[in-house]
Amino acid sequence: MAEAEASRAPLVICEHCDSVYQRPVLARKQTAHCQRCGALLARGRRLSTDQLLALTMAAAIVFLFANTFPIMGISMQGLSNEATLWQTVEALAQGRITLIALVTGLSIIFAPALQIILLAWVLVHARAGRVAPGFRACMRALEHLRPWSMLEVCLLGILVAIIKLAGMLEVHPGIGLWAMSMLTVLIILIGGRDVRGLWDELGVGRP
Ligand SMILES: [Zn+2]
Repeated sequence: MAEAEASRAPLVICEHCDSVYQRPVLARKQTAHCQRCGALLARGRRLSTDQLLALTMAAAIVFLFANTFPIMGISMQGLSNEATLWQTVEALAQGRITLIALVTGLSIIFAPALQIILLAWVLVHARAGRVAPGFRACMRALEHLRPWSMLEVCLLGILVAIIKLAGMLEVHPGIGLWAMSMLTVLIILIGGRDVRGLWDELGVGRP
C-alpha cells in the first residue's frame, strides 16, 4: 500500500482477522485484500462522481414517473380501474392494515425521495471538489436508508400478490410500476459502495 496516501487515508480493519492496514486509494475496479487471510478489504469505485450524479438525475426523473403514472391497473368483469402509488397507499391506510400502509408509504415514496435529495446534495458538491455542508449527516442518513430500497422490492411484490389473491382480479402493471422498479435498481446502484467512496475521495474521516 502506497505510503504517499497514508497522510490522507484512514485505517481499515480486516473484518475477518482484525489486521489493521492503511486504507488504500484504489482506482476504479481495483480491489485490496488482507495479506494475512485474503479477505476483501476495499474495492475501487465502479462509477465516477459524474456518472453517479447523472444516475441520480435519472433517478429523480424516474421517481416523478413512478409517482405520476398508475402503478397498476385492475380489471374485473369488464370494469377497470387504475391506481397510482399515492392512491394505493391511501387505500391501504383506510383499511384495517394501516401499519402496513405506513411502512409502504414510507419506503416507497419517502425513502427514495430522501435518498435522491441527499445523493444530489453530496454529489453536486463532490463534483466541484467540495465537501457538502452536513456531509457526515447526509452519508449516515444514506446508510440508514439503504435497507428501505431492498424492502421496496419485497413490498411491491407482496402488494401485487395480495391484490391478486384477494379478489382473483386481473392485475396488470402500469407505467408507474416499471418506473418504480427502475428507480429501485438505480438507487441500489448509486447508493452502494460507490457513494461510500466519497469519504476517502474527499478526505473526510469516517466517524
Ligand atoms: Zn484478514
